Amino acid sequence: MRYFRTLTIILIISIVSFIFFAIVAYFNPMYDAFGPGILFSRGAALAILLLTMFGMFLVTYDLTTWVRNKLKRRWNTVFDFQILFHRFSGFLITIYSYIHTVGHLTGSIRALDKEKDVNKINSVLTHKRFDKHLNYFELLFTTIPGVTGILLMIIITLMWGTSLKWVRKRWFQLFSTVHVFCFPSFIILIIIHGSDTWLNYGFPLGSITVGISLLIYLFFWIRKLFYQCKGKFSIKSVEVSESGNFIYLHLNKPKHYNYMEGQYIFLNCPDVSWWEWHPFSISSSKSSPHISFFIKDNGNFTKKLFNLIKKQKNKNKNCIEENTNQNVRKMI
Ligand SMILES: Cc1cc2nc3c(=O)[nH]c(=O)nc-3n(C[C@H](O)[C@H](O)[C@H](O)COP(=O)(O)OP(=O)(O)OC[C@H]3O[C@@H](n4cnc5c(N)ncnc54)[C@H](O)[C@@H]3O)c2cc1C
Repeated sequence: MRYFRTLTIILIISIVSFIFFAIVAYFNPMYDAFGPGILFSRGAALAILLLTMFGMFLVTYDLTTWVRNKLKRRWNTVFDFQILFHRFSGFLITIYSYIHTVGHLTGSIRALDKEKDVNKINSVLTHKRFDKHLNYFELLFTTIPGVTGILLMIIITLMWGTSLKWVRKRWFQLFSTVHVFCFPSFIILIIIHGSDTWLNYGFPLGSITVGISLLIYLFFWIRKLFYQCKGKFSIKSVEVSESGNFIYLHLNKPKHYNYMEGQYIFLNCPDVSWWEWHPFSISSSKSSPHISFFIKDNGNFTKKLFNLIKKQKNKNKNCIEENTNQNVRKMI
């Protein structure tokens, strides 16, 4: 099982990075001041950053497609399971986030609350300087790491909870909306979380690691959006199955529009919903003068699309935009 090996490698890399940062913390004065809890919070911090970078890379589809095409056949099929790896990374990020939080709650925050001498506190922190003692509550609810930490835990729990299979299957739009809004907030908050430089190297490590990954992700996302907005297709014809559960949709293909058999397309129909994009496999060959799909009545979007198509079947109205996803040949 090739994907099982890759999952094991992801797990091992995260554990190694955890141990590495825990050892660095052990040989730092912060360990004497904050106790073993700091080993867990520091170790988990590095694991979270690496896993977040990796998880983000796995959903930067244009980039993974490019990497996949560069790899030898023996290796590139690993990308068939990239969503599984993304999900596993997300699961590990959630676990490490809880470890990180418990480590701080039982280590650094408790120690900072107990120690009344501000000079002693400042001598342990790498860059941050306090001018007065803060109690446990103030450390949690009035400091940048405290507030952003709470928000990050809420976000990660929401993202993890809504991506559970039974939630995703029932309320796909809830899962996708939470991911779309929470993911950039998660990255930005990670950077702000370390920006008060209590325990790091004078700059938030996240600004380099996940910050750069975010810029790459945004670049490809904007590029994709640009292509998404460019393509407008018109319906050529629609056949509805006898049972009424399937439609066979044919769209007119613009000149120079290329795709390969087996790829899928994200369809958007603004008359149904301007913000929903749904994937459908192309069932026509690349030499065909039009592009076709079998679409099953499967839920909210497809039901509305069916109703609209049935109404407009003969009007040949422009209502569908497209965006091919180059990544997908082996995902289907
Ligand atoms: C790569 C790929 C190719 C597909 N090709 C076809 C095809 O050729 N013909 C066809 O009838 N269906 C295809 N589907 C399934 C199709 O995308 C869903 O049926 C459609 O998105 C359902 O949306 P809905 O709002 O009608 O139903 P909902 O009730 O919202 O969802 C029904 C199920 O569809 C899945 N789903 C919903 N929205 C999405 C989305 N945006 N992206 C991925 N999955 C989603 C969820 O698992 C959900 O449980 C394909 C899906 C994928 C991932």
